[in-house]
Amino acid sequence: MSLIDPQLAAILVCPVDKADLTEDEAASRLVCTQCGRRYPVRDGIPVMLVDEADGGPDE
Ligand SMILES: [Zn+2]
Repeated sequence: MSLIDPQLAAILVCPVDKADLTEDEAASRLVCTQCGRRYPVRDGIPVMLVDEADGGPDE
C-alpha cells in the first residue's frame, strides 16, 4: 500500500535539494528527508512544485 507507484516513488526527489522523499500516507503527502517540505499527492499524482508544498525551512 502506497500513495503512488513505487517505481515512480523511487525516482522522485525534492526539487529544491534533490533529497529523497518519504510517504506520509495519512496526509497524502510526500515529505522531503532533507528540508521537510511536504508535497501534495492528488489522485495518485505527486505535485512536485515548491509553490504547492507546505512545511520546510521557510515556515
Ligand atoms: Zn527538500
